[in-house]
Amino acid sequence: MRIAVLGGGQLGRMLALEGIPLGHRFTFLEPSPAPPAGPLGTVVAAPYDDRAALARVADTADVVTCEFENVPAASADFLAARLPVLPPPAALQAAQDRLAEKELFRRLGIPTAPFHPLRTPAQLDAALGTTGLPAVIKTRRFGYDGKGQVVARSAAEAAAALDVLGAELIAESFVRFTRELSILAVRGRDGDRVFYPLTENHHHDGILVASYAPAPRITPALQAAAEAMAERVMERLDYVGVLAIELFEARGRLLANEMAPRVHNSGHWTLDGAATSQFENHVRAVTGLPLAVPRMAGPAAMLNIIGELPDAVEVASVPGAHLHLYDKTPRPGRKLGHVNVTGGDEAAVRATARRVRELLGGESSSLPAAVSRG
Ligand code: AMP
Repeated sequence: MRIAVLGGGQLGRMLALEGIPLGHRFTFLEPSPAPPAGPLGTVVAAPYDDRAALARVADTADVVTCEFENVPAASADFLAARLPVLPPPAALQAAQDRLAEKELFRRLGIPTAPFHPLRTPAQLDAALGTTGLPAVIKTRRFGYDGKGQVVARSAAEAAAALDVLGAELIAESFVRFTRELSILAVRGRDGDRVFYPLTENHHHDGILVASYAPAPRITPALQAAAEAMAERVMERLDYVGVLAIELFEARGRLLANEMAPRVHNSGHWTLDGAATSQFENHVRAVTGLPLAVPRMAGPAAMLNIIGELPDAVEVASVPGAHLHLYDKTPRPGRKLGHVNVTGGDEAAVRATARRVRELLGGESSSLPAAVSRG
């Protein structure tokens, strides 16, 4: 099949790396020059709202998917009128707006931190009345990797956040979580679905730095609760593809923080730690192939390479370390690649992850590689 991907970053690159062996061809609609996915397909270099470019994508593809959810709704609708767009545009729209997303969770009975919309200073009292203090104030749109959000410890700080962040905001209670987890679910065109084990995620300055899978000390009940949340979202949206939901574990309960209607950084370990990766299962889903049950060989870890490139020889010399680079120019805060760690039991994976972390240097080395003991 001819698969068009909205976006041409590292997620598109890895989708193609896993989709080409299944016989597919890839086109990427991507505004920036020389994107990471470029070597793996045809690049239509244009903004996401360029009608001529969208028409070209529609003419040269059998199915459209995305590796970037902030595509204008009008563009997704334009494409969906011509060919299947999977996941469907409604899923992209829900995930673009933190308020719409949290309202969807609420409608579906999925627990979240208390939240309240925030547009004007006049709404501040009502918002803080719902959230209490501290509150996390976030832009509704275009926030990523912790950008566009402020933790307000007083009403004055919340008022200042309104000035800095603009008018379309959401206020949330600050969650004193034990840890952050994510669930990756996949739904096929036939409605079948599979789930990866809950993954434990560590962030630094809002950027994911390390993931451990399966998350240590996960009970079947917690896994089932996370799967039920993803299932409800997927059924409601008639979803096809990989869906990631980021979760907080607090007092033994799961709260949904946000969802991504695409393959997700916290699932990169599946390239080496699962018999079928999130990327292959996403391609299977959108092309109508049966999904593969994601069996794991054992525990796995993933360490992001952020800002600076490590010595590839040193990393590749570590037994059980799998180096993935995205062919990106180093820049502070930029995700340049990741290292997956597999082999042995949880303690062995953790020890290797610590060693890799030391080799990563720069920004990545200041990051936690140890699994939390909550
Ligand atoms: P987000 O952009 O919503 O994924 O937030 C980025 C990171 O900020 C999360 O991974 C958490 O570490 C933290 N965070 C976001 N929302 C909250 C919250 N309501 N309470 C505590 N921490 C939060």
